[in-house]
Amino acid sequence: MRYAVFSDVHGNLEALGAVLDFCHASRVDGHICCGDVVGYGPNPEECLGLIRQLKNLHIVCGNHDLAVIGRIDVEWFNPYARAATLWTRAALSDGSRLYLENLTARLDLPDFTVVHGTPRRPADEYMLSVAQFKNNMSRVKAWPLFCGHSHMPVSFHCTAEGKVETYFIEDHQCVTGDVAPYGIVPVAYNPGSVGQPRDHDKRASCALWDREARTFQVFRFAYDVAATQAKIRSAGLPEYLALRLAYGQ
Ligand code: ZN
Repeated sequence: MRYAVFSDVHGNLEALGAVLDFCHASRVDGHICCGDVVGYGPNPEECLGLIRQLKNLHIVCGNHDLAVIGRIDVEWFNPYARAATLWTRAALSDGSRLYLENLTARLDLPDFTVVHGTPRRPADEYMLSVAQFKNNMSRVKAWPLFCGHSHMPVSFHCTAEGKVETYFIEDHQCVTGDVAPYGIVPVAYNPGSVGQPRDHDKRASCALWDREARTFQVFRFAYDVAATQAKIRSAGLPEYLALRLAYGQ
């Protein structure tokens, strides 16, 4: 069984289109979305519409999704994120708002776990360090853990000796930190960001997880960044949100 794993779409329809074309061509059996479908980008409604139709979809909400529906105070956000949140609030239909309101921040499934940030603080803690991974290990029942939020394709893997190794995962690189018995070895995978990569590679990022082979492979896709930038500008969203897409940061 193969799953497409993706995160942090952030209302970027051109980037999402590139990723979903690949998912369809790869004939995946299911989809795992680690949250933040909306916020920052100019097409939140359209992105939600596409994602809601995906088969066998396992999705959690992220901090931007929660801010848009008023469950996180935008005063905590930087000015660009705050402006985008308020714009997105006005751009969403009632149906999309309701969909976001019904998302959970954490999914505990028999074969894997999904959060946006970390198991300890699913919506908003960044999983960036070995210490954070270790501190969160006891809170996971089924491995692997899939997370997003940092917008970086990365893995954390606890070896048999109890040492945690981390890897930044390059385009087409396949990692497997997860040997039998399935679901026991602590390993976390972040597929990077579809709509706003921050690893200095502007291409949209996603991954395929093969449940039986226990592999996680990252893929990057060029998309029409200029088209997304033009939409950001014509929507009146902050210029910085358009510029950063060209640099992948
Ligand atoms: Zn995000």
